[in-house]
Amino acid sequence: MSEQFDVVIVGGGPAALAAGLYAGRAKLKTLILERNLLGGQVATTSMIENYPGFARIAGSELAASLAESALRFGAIPRLDEVMKVTVSGERRFSVTTITEQICATAVIVATGGSHRKLGVSGEAALLGRGVSHCAVCDGPDCEGAEVVVVGGGDSALQEALLLAEYASSVTIVHRRQGLRAGATLQERVRQNPKIRLILGWVVDEMQGRNSVERVLLREVSTGLREALPAQGVFVYVGIQPNTECLAELALPLSNGFLVTDERMRTTVPGLFAAGDVRAKAVRQIATAVGEGAEAALAAVEYVRGHRT
Ligand code: NAP
Repeated sequence: MSEQFDVVIVGGGPAALAAGLYAGRAKLKTLILERNLLGGQVATTSMIENYPGFARIAGSELAASLAESALRFGAIPRLDEVMKVTVSGERRFSVTTITEQICATAVIVATGGSHRKLGVSGEAALLGRGVSHCAVCDGPDCEGAEVVVVGGGDSALQEALLLAEYASSVTIVHRRQGLRAGATLQERVRQNPKIRLILGWVVDEMQGRNSVERVLLREVSTGLREALPAQGVFVYVGIQPNTECLAELALPLSNGFLVTDERMRTTVPGLFAAGDVRAKAVRQIATAVGEGAEAALAAVEYVRGHRT
């Protein structure tokens, strides 16, 4: 017989952990299923300066605090990957992981997103060999190296600042003249003598024999090509929502992100979504946490109304 929970939370980032805290505190039997690391992308973010209550905190520290708050009220964390969520009769949801099958009255999807790939030649082959999506993990290996960061959003600029602490030079390559990142990050990047901005260019190819050695750049307006030596390439070109496990539910999506109402309800009763996986305008830790709390409180109401 499958194990039964009131709420299964899929994912372990800030939205999931906030949901775990609220569901646990409401005394629901709550399971948090995370495939990798509690804290999600926060755990591998260098420094956070815009999460209220903490003037400045390392991502790993905030991740540990969020996890501690969630587990304090009884939510159970389990390291496992969810393969499939389906609706199944009276116990409502069936959650299939790599190792087991679990029943849940309600499910909160807080699976976040994965770093999007550029899809250029050499990228896949050199991933883990100088090509990375994690400056916190791989930055320390870039001591004295020439590093390229691709992207113009908050992630690219924030992690470029961290990489500048190790690398001899950091070149941010962005496809447009205007950066998408917030003003404070832009100002810091422009003031950092180790960081150079190449705007209006794209990376067309990554080359290297055993590890990355150079990138080939192309100017968008002219098509001009140039090679740039690089021993590290960090790709931060946005996130791709993790919705594979929900495929059978055929939920409405917007650009691949899950559509919910303001209480985080999807079109399937008892199924909620929170955090970066949701279709929305702002992706911040503070908003993810708020959505996690909202989703959990809506799930509490749902579970109480569906108890046998
Ligand atoms: P993002 O904000 O979506 O930015 C992605 C960047 O990659 C954009 O500059 C985009 O260019 C560029 N890009 C996308 N596809 C590309 C392609 N095929 N080739 C070249 N460039 C491409 O993603 P993010 O920086 O990972 O951030 C994700 C979310 O988390 C955002 O909502 C962000 O605000 C949030 N976040 C916040 C913080 C913070 O507050 N400190 C830190 C990290 C992340 P265009 O600008 O031309 O579209």
